[in-house]
Amino acid sequence: MILLKLFECHMLPVPWRYVNSWNCHACGLCCRGFSVVLNFAEWMSVVKNYGVGFTAPGINKFYLKHKSDGSCTFLCDYHGKGICSLQHMKPLACKLWPFKILSRPKYGRARQAIYDYAGRNLFIYADPSCPGLDWGNPTRSFLKTALTEFIELALGLREKQFDSTSRMLYSPQFLRLNRQKLSRI
Ligand code: SF4
Ligand code: SF4
Repeated sequence: MILLKLFECHMLPVPWRYVNSWNCHACGLCCRGFSVVLNFAEWMSVVKNYGVGFTAPGINKFYLKHKSDGSCTFLCDYHGKGICSLQHMKPLACKLWPFKILSRPKYGRARQAIYDYAGRNLFIYADPSCPGLDWGNPTRSFLKTALTEFIELALGLREKQFDSTSRMLYSPQFLRLNRQKLSRI
């Protein structure tokens, strides 16, 4: 699962040691122009709940459908912010963005990318196209909260997101909103 190719991206991922912190700005950039790979269970859930037309076939892979402007069909506008309307069944590829948590140093700089998680060597990179990344030495808070949550998601140790997604989703206003009523962008 952790070797799953997440999004198609042309910028070289950067080792986690150069990430000072990360906070999602809900800019929606990662939901535009990228192909989201679905595993079989995720594809089945989308098909069962929304219909096969919300997915797109690929060679040996399933994807989420794009709109004509290249954005994900589940991307919604909320007061000018890009919000995912698939929160209750968000694909793992989306949950892990912008981090890539791998079992080998696929993008080089192994010494900077290696991360010891409970005695297990992982290689962690961040996609620099995400504007939510701040560069520098990692803060203790980033390591303990967001990065740990991304690792646990990748390893299948947790499903729910809190520190690995936009804080806006936990605002009282947003929680009151019926997410099904969000207007599609
Ligand atoms: S993860 Fe990054 S690119 Fe995606 S919405 Fe958040 S800040 Fe924007
Ligand atoms: S499923 Fe949600 S998070 Fe993933 S690309 Fe679509 S709108 Fe963005």
